Amino acid sequence: MRFVLLGPPGAGKGTQAAILSEKLGVPHISTGDLFRANIDQATPLGLEAKKYTAAGNLVPSEITNNMVKARVAEPDAVNGFLLDGFPRTINQAQALDAILAELNTKLDGVLSFVVGNDDIVVERMLARGRSDDTEEVIRHRLRVYRDETAPLLDYYKNEILTVDALGEVSEVNARALAALGQ
Ligand code: AMP
Repeated sequence: MRFVLLGPPGAGKGTQAAILSEKLGVPHISTGDLFRANIDQATPLGLEAKKYTAAGNLVPSEITNNMVKARVAEPDAVNGFLLDGFPRTINQAQALDAILAELNTKLDGVLSFVVGNDDIVVERMLARGRSDDTEEVIRHRLRVYRDETAPLLDYYKNEILTVDALGEVSEVNARALAALGQ
């Protein structure tokens, strides 16, 4: 069970990934969470990442790809994982293909969370009150998503399972499980 969760910031991927991880018994690997943990602990990786996350820019792929490579090789991820927030660029998707090939495995699919329009996303994100969730930074992150990440919908076109991300957490979760055939 190796899945990527795709969708714009504020689509509720993180919430869904946490629930799915519990139900399916595979770790939820969130690059955003990994960066935030490093930032909180002021590790060298965190100090570097903060230069980018604070402004809503992507952390350079070399740093991000190496972090993911190390994380998916950990013992709890041998039977699978849910990747949340990675890949975010074509370069990262190609890096993921290479990382998985080295582990003699591949993705089972990509869950794509679809929301209506930017205003819905901005409203959801302002409600959660994270430090990189000012309206200006959120709108910037949405532009970065459109330019850098949305092309992955085409990259993964043969692997995509679409999930309508509007509605209650439990409703969206039921749709996600159905899309996964659970
Ligand atoms: P997230 O929690 O997924 O919204 O990520 C928060 C921030 O972490 C993003 O705005 C980026 O600055 C950084 N980040 C998370 N994942 C990645 C990634 N795959 N590549 C580059 N930067 C990332």
